[in-house]
Amino acid sequence: KVVTRFAPSPTGFLHIGGARTALFNWLFARHYGGEMRLRIEDTDRARSTEPAIAAILDGLTWLGLEGDGDVVYQSTRAARHREAVMEMLDKGAAYRCYATQEELAEMRETAAAEGRPPRYDGRWRDRDPAEAPAGVDPVIRLKAPLEGETMVPDLVQGEVRFPNKDLDDLVVLRSDGTPTYMLAVVVDDHDMDVTHVIRGDDHLTNAARQTLIYQALGWEVPAMAHIPLIHGPDGAKLSKRHGALGVDAYRAMGYLPEALRNYLVRLGWAHGDEEIFSTERMIELFSLEAVGRSPARFDFTKLENLNGHYMREAAPERLMAALPPVIAAREDAEAVEAALAAGGRERLAVALPSLAERAKTLVELVDNAAFLWAERPLVMTDKAAKLLEGDAPAHLKALHEKLAAVEAWAMEPLEAAVRAYAEEAGVKLGKVAQPLRAALTGSNTSPGIFDVLVALGREEALARIADQAA
Ligand code: GLU
Repeated sequence: KVVTRFAPSPTGFLHIGGARTALFNWLFARHYGGEMRLRIEDTDRARSTEPAIAAILDGLTWLGLEGDGDVVYQSTRAARHREAVMEMLDKGAAYRCYATQEELAEMRETAAAEGRPPRYDGRWRDRDPAEAPAGVDPVIRLKAPLEGETMVPDLVQGEVRFPNKDLDDLVVLRSDGTPTYMLAVVVDDHDMDVTHVIRGDDHLTNAARQTLIYQALGWEVPAMAHIPLIHGPDGAKLSKRHGALGVDAYRAMGYLPEALRNYLVRLGWAHGDEEIFSTERMIELFSLEAVGRSPARFDFTKLENLNGHYMREAAPERLMAALPPVIAAREDAEAVEAALAAGGRERLAVALPSLAERAKTLVELVDNAAFLWAERPLVMTDKAAKLLEGDAPAHLKALHEKLAAVEAWAMEPLEAAVRAYAEEAGVKLGKVAQPLRAALTGSNTSPGIFDVLVALGREEALARIADQAA
């Protein structure tokens, strides 16, 4: 059975790169009918925080990428990690190293002076532990091979080779008895039955070191896939300005999770020139062979366009349900929430499909919906004020009378009444509809004018028209 895992370090939020890694792991597992496990790598107690853990789990839930089985907290597994190290010692695959801080500093300095990367020189590798100095707590190091090479058969990068002389005897257990990150990852992946490790290619060198640990323990190395990182539109490392944000920021900016998921799957993976992928289709088509080797570039415009697509497709109830966090993130959150509670929600529900046609994000949608609960008399934009000049107030007065006589306040009869009036007055529909739009919304752009009439309801619509009529 295929088992993947997503193993974030909870030192910050679930950022966009992490979300993509999670998505690829999730899709790969689903494609093969397997499982994606979640592991919180919280061994760095000082930097791991509860809010960060909550934000990561929350972000995954929002994106619909829940893991299978219980969440594994790496910090709870220290005893098991130590046990694995003892196994390595017993096998002669690891050794105690008593080198002092001063000795290690000296090795680093010599390396720096010779212009090469620092490297532990293996001085305790074959030394008799009886020579151990008193008062030094040893670390335990992996006895790494000195010659040859370590090859990582990567499913994305191909066969990546590392000369063993570059991989020194890394520490697996610190002198205080805590496991190192490198060791913990291997033991956990092994114990969690992980068959495929899919993660960012910043972990590629780790893959070589981890391979040596697997070999030392006599365990099977899982398949590896290191996916290229996400870059900014300019090809440079992804910066905040270019989208290196937490998933929660995308939610607050008004993106739908299905749109972000569709966007993320295309960051590094492609299937022909298809752009729209339902979840089912992603699962059906996803493969690591189709993951590219060059960094994907983040493109906000594309994300917006996809989001626009998913907003137009979404059922009104779906959109309604997605709004609360978007509204909560607004500066005027309280005012909007109060307006919604005071009848705005009903108006919004009616106007939603029409609003969704015209917005690329939920934030834009809420902005465009503000006229629904604006207080009378409406404040006019400059363009709206222009539309209300000339004979507009007179048209509005006459129109008010016609509309007040409409029996059922619904799309068709309202449209019929407005059209009939325009004909009667001998003017084009726009000549009536534009001032009407201004009077109802305070703006020259809005959802369809008949949608607006229906959404506002008879009383409010007529009152707004009367405000601008003469
Ligand atoms: N915890 C690591 C990170 O957040 C990932 C480790 C792994 O995938 O092996 O970058």
